[in-house]
Amino acid sequence: MNFIDTHCHLNIDPLLERTNEVIDAAAEQGIDKMVVVGIDLPTSEIAIRLAEDHPQIYAAAGIHPNDTSKAPENWEKEIVDMLSHPRVVAVGETGLDYYWDESPAEVQKIFFRDHLDLAMATGKPAIIHNREADRDIVQQILEHGNTSGVFHCWPSPWDIAKPLLDKGYHISFTGTVTFKKNEAVQDVAARMPLERLMLETDSPFLTPVPHRGKRPNEPKYIPHIAEKIAELRDITVEDIARQTTKNSITFFGLENLG
Ligand SMILES: [Zn+2]
Repeated sequence: MNFIDTHCHLNIDPLLERTNEVIDAAAEQGIDKMVVVGIDLPTSEIAIRLAEDHPQIYAAAGIHPNDTSKAPENWEKEIVDMLSHPRVVAVGETGLDYYWDESPAEVQKIFFRDHLDLAMATGKPAIIHNREADRDIVQQILEHGNTSGVFHCWPSPWDIAKPLLDKGYHISFTGTVTFKKNEAVQDVAARMPLERLMLETDSPFLTPVPHRGKRPNEPKYIPHIAEKIAELRDITVEDIARQTTKNSITFFGLENLG
């Protein structure tokens, strides 16, 4: 069985200091491709360097909502340059985060719209982070012309997922779908079209059950997330592996990148 971890942070410590070990451990569990996602300019650059050094790795470049107020004036030009790199397969992560008080909502919204503009202009999908910002996320997505993107680490109930899926967006699940009492998220994982579903660890964060609480999380734990979603949908883990791998290859355009 093969899997793709569509969102991990091998570009930050403690994973960055032991990249080779993390990639080898992932390969032993069948995770043979990973998308390493930038949260600011330096970590986007590191993601690209990792993608140049390792054939299993692809990069995404963007400014995380929590990092928007710290971004330099020329951030957009820098990100545009990075997006022209063939192994940069997505714009992000971007989005809205009203949980942490790191950047004002108005600043986050401007950056989010700018990232969606870049996704449309480059044809590379957006990777979107949403924490406690359901209403504004849905509003901004419905107002914007971009239709290609993934909501990573899905946190919300079905009524929020529905309009985003209708617009054409994908949804990916982390270890939080394995957590007890996360019924609203499990309901979305069970109901949504399998053709739009992808897997991710968001490592080093959010270690899935049965390793919950252990840090750091790593791409090698993807099968635990796949097993939970297979159980929720009453299909085999092989079905989940096959379909989510296919979805991810098409979504990020990996077929021509080797
Ligand atoms: Zn992330």
